[in-house]
Amino acid sequence: MTFPFKNQHRQEGNFLANAGGVKNIFFSWGTYQVEVFEEAVQTTFWPFLQIGDKGELKDSFCTCEVAEKEKSCAHLAAAFLQISGDKPLHVRFQDSFWNHLCFAAFTLFGAESDIWQKKSEEKFSCFSPQHEELISLHVKTEKGQHILNEYIFQRVPETEEISLLASIAANLPGT
Ligand SMILES: [Zn+2]
Repeated sequence: MTFPFKNQHRQEGNFLANAGGVKNIFFSWGTYQVEVFEEAVQTTFWPFLQIGDKGELKDSFCTCEVAEKEKSCAHLAAAFLQISGDKPLHVRFQDSFWNHLCFAAFTLFGAESDIWQKKSEEKFSCFSPQHEELISLHVKTEKGQHILNEYIFQRVPETEEISLLASIAANLPGT
C-alpha cells in the first residue's frame, strides 16, 4: 500500500514518532485522534484519521496550518506510522487478549467503580459473590494512582464515541 502522505512529511513524521512525539491515541473502531507533540515548536497537534480494516486511509485532517494547505503534514504521517503495522491498531485491538479479557470482566461486573474494595492505601480488590478475591490492583507509584483515578475512581461517565467527538469538536478551527 502506498503511504498516503507526502514523502517529506513521512520523513518528518518518522522522526517525530521515533523521538516519542506520539502520545495518547484515542480510537473508536477505525476513527482515530492522536496526540502528537512537536518538540521543536513546543506544541501539541491533534491529527484525526479514519482508517479501514486493511490499513487504508479514508479521511484525515490535522489542527496545523500545513495540513490545511497541503492535506498532508508531519503529524498525520507520525500518527499513521504509529497506528499502522501488520494490521492497523483497531484491528489488532479487536483480536487482542486484553480486549477479550477486559470485555469478559465488564460483562461479569459492569463498569462501576464500587466493584473495587479498598484493602489498604495501595491495594484494591474485586471479589466474586462467594467472596473469593478475583482481581487485585496494587498501586506502586504516584503516576499509577493518577492513572487509576482517571480511569476508574474519578472517571467521567461517557461513551468512547462521545469523548472522541467532543475532543474533535474542541479542536476544530473556529470552535
Ligand atoms: Zn499537522
